[in-house]
Amino acid sequence: MIPYGKQEIRQDDIDAVIEVLESNWLTQGPKVPEFEQSISQYCHVKHAIAVNSATSALHIACLALGVTTNDIVWTSPISFVASSNCALYCGATVDFVDINVDTANICVDALAKKLAIAAQQNTLPKALVVVHMGGLSAPMADIYNLVSQYNIAIIEDASHAIGGQYQERVIGDCRYSDICVFSFHPVKIITCAEGGIATTNSDTLASKMTLFRSHGITKDANLFTQNNENAWHYEQHHLGYNYRLTELNAALGVSQIKRLDEYVAKRNELAQLYRDALTELPASFQAQSTDCYSAYHLMIMRVHNDANVTREQLFNALRAQKIGVNVHYIPIHFQPYYQQLGFKKGDFPNAETYYQQCISIPLFPSLSAPDQQKIISEIRKALR
Ligand SMILES: *Cc1c(COP(=O)(O)O)cnc(C)c1O
Repeated sequence: MIPYGKQEIRQDDIDAVIEVLESNWLTQGPKVPEFEQSISQYCHVKHAIAVNSATSALHIACLALGVTTNDIVWTSPISFVASSNCALYCGATVDFVDINVDTANICVDALAKKLAIAAQQNTLPKALVVVHMGGLSAPMADIYNLVSQYNIAIIEDASHAIGGQYQERVIGDCRYSDICVFSFHPVKIITCAEGGIATTNSDTLASKMTLFRSHGITKDANLFTQNNENAWHYEQHHLGYNYRLTELNAALGVSQIKRLDEYVAKRNELAQLYRDALTELPASFQAQSTDCYSAYHLMIMRVHNDANVTREQLFNALRAQKIGVNVHYIPIHFQPYYQQLGFKKGDFPNAETYYQQCISIPLFPSLSAPDQQKIISEIRKALR
């Protein structure tokens, strides 16, 4: 089976991890700060706080922004469940903003309408989690201009988007957000095996996230509230978690980030090949905008309603040919857990139309030319 996505581990990565295993530090050593520094340098951002997953990063982002019971958080219904679960962890209520079917990102018009209604009803969210679907940046400037009138925090869930750009600036610089989160799960652009990071330009948010990452405990004497001179003294100020990244995972990240630009360039090259080869079919790809350079975590194709096969039939035909296609995503509000919270089919029509049509076809840097040709010809055969 050709998978839809796949990590690439080279000898350099293996050597970097072994070096850590042979060192004195398996956790809380020098590699995590080194990884954080390489990310903050890459993203031109002040702070980067590494954790054990993007899910944890989203959680500490919400906590640092003060999301709590009685608060509301909005996100896109077309994302991985972690984008909204982070708000539920904090006791907040979740709601969704419908998408633009062509980009699969939050629809700015839908956001504007929903904000106007929420302002009237006094149900404005505390934070908006913006997803860069498949690595394609959402229209951040428009989103920022809309929500900044209402004092709503913005978290970018850029789990798909490290190495991508928006308005010629690297995603993660937090120009239009308070916090930006990346994932280093093996299927994403670069990997730590498991890992995530939150970037921010705010000193306050950075120090809060650092506390929440590690039990809410500080060893900084300047922050102590108890008068205590003992060298072993430490204080817990918040209810934090153990979300720390290990030195092994960080070393893998430090090694992988060196190839980030190469990977994203290769993904763009392969994506362009698909786009050029799969024309004149009842199908389309994410709309490209000139101010975005996608990181291309996913190659999302939409099978139009007038095609001779449904998305389901195409999916089954390609799987039968050992082509590991996938679907990103089942709308979050379709999940049983979210249905129990009161969401229903029909709540977000664009997301639901998109879900009927979308299929992710294999895209990863080591996808071979013959494999890509096979995928192209099987899609052409099925959609003919
Ligand atoms: C993968 C992913 C996450 C979660 O990432 P983990 O590192 O696996 O916790 C969150 N949001 C989106 C959009 C993702 O694709």
